[in-house]
Amino acid sequence: MSARLKGKVAIVTGGNSGIGKATAHLFAQEGAKVVIMARREEEGAQVQDAINSEGGEATFIRCDVSDSSAVDSAVEAAVSKYGTINILFNNAGGGAGENFPNEGDEGWDWVINVNLSGTFYMSRAVWPHLVDAGGGAIVNNSSIAAVIGFSKNMYDITGRTPSSSYYVAKAGVEAFTRYTSSTGGQHNIRVNCVRPGQILTPGATGGREHHYFKPIFDLSQILDGPGYPEDVANLVLFLVSDESRFITGEIINIDGGTPRKL
Ligand code: NAP
Repeated sequence: MSARLKGKVAIVTGGNSGIGKATAHLFAQEGAKVVIMARREEEGAQVQDAINSEGGEATFIRCDVSDSSAVDSAVEAAVSKYGTINILFNNAGGGAGENFPNEGDEGWDWVINVNLSGTFYMSRAVWPHLVDAGGGAIVNNSSIAAVIGFSKNMYDITGRTPSSSYYVAKAGVEAFTRYTSSTGGQHNIRVNCVRPGQILTPGATGGREHHYFKPIFDLSQILDGPGYPEDVANLVLFLVSDESRFITGEIINIDGGTPRKL
């Protein structure tokens, strides 16, 4: 165990699965006190207990990030337990199965609320604590969906794409990153963003061996894939540690080198 985050308090949303779970473990291994926030309590308690039994420090607090008052309460509970907050990884998210124009209101609202509004609610609730602490670091989780298109052939290969709401929500997360990195400078708050491609997680496989969009990713990646949650966690660790002290407002691809239409 090294100590790049020694003495820091970090919130990881969606920390009970996939990318968030790997990041929670890595933050704890680097000395942070980690607050895991998500909805499923059993999975959250499992990650909390695993980190604590490895000699780390973690607490699971149930929170639906799409509910602003639940977010405010969960952040206050984190502060009353650990006294401060230094790091926030806005990672909770996901997409809907429907494709435009057959997307319903419910799917649209869910995707926008979790990915985009959740990032806003969490950042807003944590912000004053980062200011009080003299600064801090936020990393938001986008997706290459924010910047790619898809051809008819790509659609035909998989029979679907992520929903339009997912493309929009993640593009909004990137705009919010640029905005908050600008307002954060005067408070020594750095805000950056990761933009994953093919990462093998429960959410991206649906219990299968491969990513939903593996055939498309495999055609377009420069490096052989897939990527793993630990690959993203390593990048997030760099972005919240002092090693990246002169970096803010950046959106970094972690996708095996996928050409895209910008
Ligand atoms: P995952 O294993 O399904 O994790 C998603 C996490 O989000 C879970 O911990 C889930 O916990 C949490 N979550 C969902 N809705 C929530 C809500 N309303 N409130 C609080 N937490 C909520 O999938 P993942 O791939 O690791 O996804 C993590 C992030 O990476 C997402 O933002 C996703 O869009 C992004 N991403 C993933 C890939 C990929 O290929 N895997 C690519 C690009 C971007 P609960 O269900 O218990 O709440």
